[in-house]
Amino acid sequence: MNKPAEIKLESVPVWINGKALAPSGRYGEVFNPATGQVTKKVVFSDAKLVDAAVQAAAAAFPAWRDTPVLRRARVMQKFLQLLQAEQKELARLASEEHGKTLEDAMGSVQRGIEVVEFACGIPHLLKGEYSENVGTQVDTHTLRQPVGVCAGITPFNFPVMVPLWMFPMAIACGNTFILKPSEKVPSASVRMAGLFKQAGLPDGVFNVVHGDKVAVDALLLHKDVKAVSFVGSTPIAKYIYETCASTGKRVQALGGAKNHAVVLPDADLEFAADALIGAAYGSAGERCMAISAVVAVGAAGDPLVKLLEKKARQIKLGVDMGPLVTCQHRDKVASYIDIGLKEGAKLVVDARKQDTPKEGFYLGTSLFDRVTPEMEIYKNEIFGPILIVLRANTIDEAISIINKNPYANGTAIFTESGGAARRFQNEVQVGMVGINVPIPVPVAFYSFGGWKNSLFGDLHVHGTEAVKFYTRTKVVTSRWPHQDTPAPGFNMPTLG
Ligand code: NAD
Repeated sequence: MNKPAEIKLESVPVWINGKALAPSGRYGEVFNPATGQVTKKVVFSDAKLVDAAVQAAAAAFPAWRDTPVLRRARVMQKFLQLLQAEQKELARLASEEHGKTLEDAMGSVQRGIEVVEFACGIPHLLKGEYSENVGTQVDTHTLRQPVGVCAGITPFNFPVMVPLWMFPMAIACGNTFILKPSEKVPSASVRMAGLFKQAGLPDGVFNVVHGDKVAVDALLLHKDVKAVSFVGSTPIAKYIYETCASTGKRVQALGGAKNHAVVLPDADLEFAADALIGAAYGSAGERCMAISAVVAVGAAGDPLVKLLEKKARQIKLGVDMGPLVTCQHRDKVASYIDIGLKEGAKLVVDARKQDTPKEGFYLGTSLFDRVTPEMEIYKNEIFGPILIVLRANTIDEAISIINKNPYANGTAIFTESGGAARRFQNEVQVGMVGINVPIPVPVAFYSFGGWKNSLFGDLHVHGTEAVKFYTRTKVVTSRWPHQDTPAPGFNMPTLG
C-alpha cells in the first residue's frame, strides 16, 4: 500500500543580520486556530543561534548609533510607508495564526503603525536640554544616548501591534534590537523585518529569533543585551524582571490583567452594554485591555445584566468573534464555566449550549452574574470570552473592589456625572483609565502600561516613556577658560 504523501510544511525562519535562516534543530508547530490544523513549523532558537543574533546586533550598533538622527528618521518614514502598503497582509497573517477576525486584526495593525508614525519624529524627541551660565563661564547640557543591544519578548495576542510597541522606538533612538515574538504567531515579525530591510535599515540592526524559554533565557543571560522589554503573563513578567535586574539590565515587563468597568445607575445603559460587549468578547477576550469584570452599581445591575445577556447571545461565532489561540487554551477557558457554577455564581449565558463550529478552537460567549471577589473566576485572568458581573451598592465600594485587585492594567467608568468620573480617575489605582471609553489604550504619542502586577519596572511602552527607556542621559558641564576665568579651587565647586 502507498504511504500517504507527507505534507511539507512551510518553515518560519529566524532573521539574523539581514537574512532569513532556517537551520536544522528544534521546531515548534504553528496552528490555524480557525481550522485546528498545523500550517507551518517554526525554528526554535538555541543559545548558539541567539548568540549569533546578539553578535550581529552588537556589530551593527556603533555605525547605527552614529548615523545622523535625520537619516534614521528617513528609514522610519520609508518603513512606515511599507507597513501601510502591507497592512492587509500583516493583518491576514495575524488573523491566520492568532484567530482574531480580519477586521479586528486590521485595527490592531493600525495601532501598531501609529507607533512608527510617532517614531518618525525622533529628531525632536531626542533633543536635550541646555543651560547657559550655570556658573561663571560654565554651561550645562544633556545628551540622550542609546543603550546598545535591546531585546523584546512578546505575547501571542497581538502578533503585529505589540512588537511594534517596542522595536521601532528602540531603533529610532539608535539601538539595535532582537525580537523574540510568541512562538504561536511568529510569521508577521519576520515579514516586518523584511520590510525594514527594504526601507534601508542596515543588516544586523533588527533581528528576529523564535522559540520558547530556551531562547528567552539565552537573551536574558547574554552579557551584551543591555535592555529587555517584555509583554506577556504576570508570572513570566515577574521572572523576566527579576532575572534582568539580577544581571544589571534595564527592564520593563508588562503582565496580565483583570480589567473592571464600573457602571453607575445614571449611565446610558444601552451605550454602556454595547461598549462592554465589544470590550469583553472582541478578539475572543484575548486582549490585555479586555473588560473581563463589570461592577454594576445599585439600580444599574438588573437592567444592565439583561442587556448584556441579550447582546452576548447575538454574537456570531466565526463572524464577530474568532476562535481561541490553541485547543489547550480553549479548554482551560471553558473549564472556568464549571468552576464558576461550583462557586455559586449565576450563569446567565452558557457557551456550552451554543452552536460551535466542529473544526478549530472556538468557544461561544458566557456571562456570569452575582460574582464575588473570593471566587476563582474573579481572581484569575481567564483571557477568553467569559464576562463576569459583580454588584456594588456605591461607587466607593466599586473603587475599593478594583483597588484590592492585584492587577491594575486598565479600567473604565460609565456615567453621565463629571464629578463621579473625576473622583474615579483620581482614586482608582490603575494605570489606564477610560471614561465612557471601554478599552482606554493610549494613542501612540502617550505611553501604555499598567500598575501593580500588570507592570514590573518603571517606564511604560511607546510615547515619551519609550524614549526614556531606550536612552540614557548624560549631563555635560563645560567651561572654556580664557584670561578672566578664575582658577579651579581645591574645595567642592559651587560654580556660582
Ligand atoms: P506568556 O507569558 O505565556 O508568553 C509571553 C512570551 O514569553 C512569549 O514570547 C513566550 O514564548 C515567552 N515565555 C513563555 N513562557 C516562558 C518561560 N517560562 N520563560 C521565559 N519565557 C517564556 O503570555 P501569552 O500567553 O503569550 O500572552 C497572554 C498574556 O499576555 C496574558 O496574560 C495577557 O494579559 C498578557 N498581555 C499583556 C499585555 C500588557 O500590555 N500588559 C499585552 C498583551 C498581552
